[in-house]
Amino acid sequence: MLKRPDMSMSKTELKQMAEKIGLPNNGTKEQLIEAIDSELYDCVHAEPLLYIYGCKSKTRCPDESKIQKLADLFKRSQKGLGNYDAKKNYEFRTTNNRYMGHHVCSCGERSSSCDYLLPGNKYFTNSLCVHYLECHYDDINKTELAKLDNLLK
Ligand SMILES: [Zn+2]
Repeated sequence: MLKRPDMSMSKTELKQMAEKIGLPNNGTKEQLIEAIDSELYDCVHAEPLLYIYGCKSKTRCPDESKIQKLADLFKRSQKGLGNYDAKKNYEFRTTNNRYMGHHVCSCGERSSSCDYLLPGNKYFTNSLCVHYLECHYDDINKTELAKLDNLLK
């Protein structure tokens, strides 16, 4: 959810970003960037998987083994914070579990307040990933299904 800080950002934006990740919000733009960047330093480059919004279907994945495999991987995932707004630099930080808010599915199911890095470090996801396969399979687009196949192969 956080993009990498750079000089194109205003000082106010940088200050807000520092506050968001629990850093002091003082100093020059350069200092703020350095502090934020080092906080983000040990992040993993992974892609977001199964962030599905506005579910309408009530379908279950016809392949039960896929649901089971994803559930097994999810159990072994690592909690953290994923950046899935970035156009290019998808990142996942495993260093802390700061509260980033819940997502509520259209059916009322609530996510946890963090993201999860799946084993293999290729994808990060949210706590509703298995729910989407169980309850909203037809809302998962082709891109996400391809990623899922790649993960489970
Ligand atoms: Zn739902």
